[in-house]
Amino acid sequence: GQRGKSSLPHARERTLIAVKPDGVQRRLIGQIIQRFEQRGFKLVGMKMLQVSEDLLSQHYSELRAKPFYPSLLYYMTSGPVVVMVWEGHNVVQTSRTMVGTTNPTEAQPGTVRGDFSTHVSRNVVHASDSLEGAKREIQLWFQGQELLNWDCCDQKSISEV
Ligand code: UDP
Repeated sequence: GQRGKSSLPHARERTLIAVKPDGVQRRLIGQIIQRFEQRGFKLVGMKMLQVSEDLLSQHYSELRAKPFYPSLLYYMTSGPVVVMVWEGHNVVQTSRTMVGTTNPTEAQPGTVRGDFSTHVSRNVVHASDSLEGAKREIQLWFQGQELLNWDCCDQKSISEV
């Protein structure tokens, strides 16, 4: 309604989540999707693909100088990934909490990385780390028409906005 109009962009915050090749190989796609569904976020785009080095080098452009970059590229192109866009209140920050720290050694149990991984080089999932990062990554991975605007029938029970 009228009242919620000014809050609309915030409620429709979006982030990019990817199940990395190790997560796909280990049959974790369903469990990862389930966590975001049950939290109350809305799936607005999803696809499975073999990532090109070109796309990855853009995605990880800030890490190009890191010593682990070549092995990161090798790992991320070793098999298919499932990439998704999730929408909802504060979804960028909440997703990072749900995913856990970059290094699974420090990741809390209950997080994706804390429940399913042991080593930073195979940490199962990607989540955008900021609003700006999310916007950039969503544009990089998805065409506009691949993202759907649709109404979740339980939206009023999940958020005021
Ligand atoms: N990574 C790695 N070794 C490291 C640090 C990072 O292999 O020492 C990989 C890991 O897969 C991580 C990705 O590089 O998820 C991107 O690193 P970033 O610091 O952006 O962490 P994230 O945002 O994924 O938590």
